[in-house]
Amino acid sequence: MSFENLTVATIESWLREEDHARLQLLWDAADAARKAHVGEAVHLRGLIEISSYCCRLCGYCGLRADNRGLERYRMTRDEILNCAREAREFGYGTVVMQAGEDYGLTQAFITDLIHAIKEETGLAVTLSLGERPNEDFIAWRRAGADRYLLRFETSDPRLYAMIHPPGPGRTISDRLAMLERLRGFGYEIGSGVMVGIPGQSYAMLARDLATFRNLDLDMIGVGPYISHPATPLGQACGTAAPGCQSGATGEDACPTLAPGDQVPNSELMTYKTVALTRLVRPDANIPSTTALATLNLAQGREFGLQRGANIVMPNLTPPEYRKLYEIYPAKACIAETGRECHSCMGARIRRIGREVGRGPGGRKKP
Ligand code: SAH
Repeated sequence: MSFENLTVATIESWLREEDHARLQLLWDAADAARKAHVGEAVHLRGLIEISSYCCRLCGYCGLRADNRGLERYRMTRDEILNCAREAREFGYGTVVMQAGEDYGLTQAFITDLIHAIKEETGLAVTLSLGERPNEDFIAWRRAGADRYLLRFETSDPRLYAMIHPPGPGRTISDRLAMLERLRGFGYEIGSGVMVGIPGQSYAMLARDLATFRNLDLDMIGVGPYISHPATPLGQACGTAAPGCQSGATGEDACPTLAPGDQVPNSELMTYKTVALTRLVRPDANIPSTTALATLNLAQGREFGLQRGANIVMPNLTPPEYRKLYEIYPAKACIAETGRECHSCMGARIRRIGREVGRGPGGRKKP
């Protein structure tokens, strides 16, 4: 069976595949491609969730501005630097600073932080701070930031418009165009989608995967959509995860699809998406995500790594903050310290016979 040059139709039929023996072929092909193109090393990216403030109203995300039930925090310079020091101590090559779209994180604050982290630790710096103005992107790149992560969430314009309303005083965003600009500014770029967003059809997800192939992405993150009760999507489509099926309640905010067209936000569907991502972009860095671990704490990360992924992102955020960074409920590992996360990840990687990567772990461009 050939997994080369998969068409959108073939990708869709793999997404719909339920036969275990055939799925095993998919897992094996993805694992072989991973091994051939990015090797056995699992690179660790230290995640620091630096602020939970957000000015946006994304339909899926618990950090949305109008969620008044959430206590907000913004880490101080020293707190963030301490996490970066831990990352260096643990041997990580990279820190990822992620936050809601928070303009309290000023251009100057982030610029200074990048300088400080680079100077003190020499680590690669990845930013995931949402849709900021070009001037911010340029200033941060100049300060030494290496990578920017911005998921396009879905390539379907209608679904995107429904779940991702424009920021204050802005028009609807074009994240694909923004990614191209970021690349132009000299960043390595990462993107990705959620699997099983209410209203996401198999054809849409297949087109997301084709979009991965067409964009020259350095990193691609895919994780299951997890319903948050304090969001419009969560309220319209119920809070049970997995399984917000289209039309479950028939509310306006839950877009309806023909029966059988809705992609389930399940663990299995996420593995299929991870595996197909590897097959369409064999040399990309692909994380086995926390959202996947949230669906299966015992083995989700490991299965992700055995079905195409080559990255994990241990969380360095201090426990008192990480429980407040509630993009979705019941996130895996919210009570742990960075040190606990670190030793747990190392053990999990070794248990499946892989090795922990060293160095910044950027993409080896052919
Ligand atoms: N403000 C930044 C970071 C957002 S959080 C930005 O907008 O890019 C990082 C990712 O978490 C998002 O891109 C989204 O794909 C994912 N996410 C948010 N809410 C989620 C949910 N309810 N279920 C699963 N993933 C979610």
